[in-house]
Amino acid sequence: MKTHEYQAKQLLRMAGVPVLRGILATSPLEAEDAARQLGGDTFVVKAQIHAGGRGKGGGVKLARTAAEAGDLAERMLGTRLKTPQTGPEGQEVRKVYVEEGCRIAREIYLGLVLDRETRRVTLVACAEGGMEIEEVARERPEKIVRVAIDPITGLSPFQARRLAQALRLDGAAVGEFARFAAALYEAFLTNDATMAEINPLAVTEGGKLVALDAKLAFDDNALWRHPRVAAMRDPWEEDPRENRAREHDLQYIALDGDIGCMVNGAGLAMATMDIIRLSGGRPANFLDVGGGADEKKVTAAFSLLLADPNVHAVLVNIFGGIMKCDVIANGIVAAARQVKLSIPLVVRLEGTHVKQGKQILAASGLRIVAADDLGDAATKVVAAAARQARAS
Ligand code: GDP
Ligand code: MN
Repeated sequence: MKTHEYQAKQLLRMAGVPVLRGILATSPLEAEDAARQLGGDTFVVKAQIHAGGRGKGGGVKLARTAAEAGDLAERMLGTRLKTPQTGPEGQEVRKVYVEEGCRIAREIYLGLVLDRETRRVTLVACAEGGMEIEEVARERPEKIVRVAIDPITGLSPFQARRLAQALRLDGAAVGEFARFAAALYEAFLTNDATMAEINPLAVTEGGKLVALDAKLAFDDNALWRHPRVAAMRDPWEEDPRENRAREHDLQYIALDGDIGCMVNGAGLAMATMDIIRLSGGRPANFLDVGGGADEKKVTAAFSLLLADPNVHAVLVNIFGGIMKCDVIANGIVAAARQVKLSIPLVVRLEGTHVKQGKQILAASGLRIVAADDLGDAATKVVAAAARQARAS
């Protein structure tokens, strides 16, 4: 799960990471009020969407007066902000964050990721942060420094100093950086984050360090023990199909292909997606209905697949162990009727109650292509999807 910048900053502030004062606004009037409350003569109005690259897309603007902050908010709110990270349709701006201004001397990049190879939380930093970081990473990767943190001892003062040096910080800024990095690591750990990115970490003209931007992502499987973080979920920023899947407790991930897959078991689901690709097709989703799904859940899963307009054919691949094939079959039939199924459906059923399952499907009157094994199913569904794509 991801959060907005203003939410990430709230969590960072609690951990002692220096951030600027800011107020969230959902209307131009609120934005103007926010600026007035903050006081001063510079404000930054920042569109709150989950995608980055807002600066480049016009989602970060400077205002000199409260009235101007209101005007900027008016221009941003309700529009679809397009950035290099949103995709061509952009992302609707529903909130803006109004922050006090700050005089930036230099912009640094500081990130924390979980490096699965070394199995350590790793600090990633670059002296040249800001909006061109992707370009730096591409063209001069040697400029990016990495420091793996020992989970037992944490970030050592020595590591922090060496990193500060690499970032060309000196004097009081070295100690300040060590405290900054330690606080960021603390926020990362205590919230079970999987990624933290401060870009830019600004060095102000006064020599202070402050997180000007903040992105955090969290481990979904740990959200149950972080109700504060879980409450920060913004369904508007997430794939509507994945939201629906969550409501039904289904493991669903939207992909960009055209073959809808309904499978039980994550391993079988992965294998199914692999074999679809191997047969020349592209899966539209990952979907694991789980071992204990009932008819209602199967129906929900099936309608979820069909709600994707890109889906040209559906492959149901179920190995009935705990899950029984007749339950699956009833779910398929109910859902196919409900949504008036009009695209090819390939089904491979195997395991407990397979005979009953096949009978239910056969008696349903639905046009179902039966498959014998995984390879056969993949070949059939890829061919069917191609035919359907040509016809539609
Ligand atoms: P992103 O483009 O989505 O990553 O948004 P950022 O929050 O990083 O903003 C983009 C750029 O706007 C930053 O690199 C800064 O140069 C500038 N910026 C962001 N926040 C502030 C701020 O509070 N004050 C000033 N002066 N500039 C800011
Ligand atoms: Mn940024």
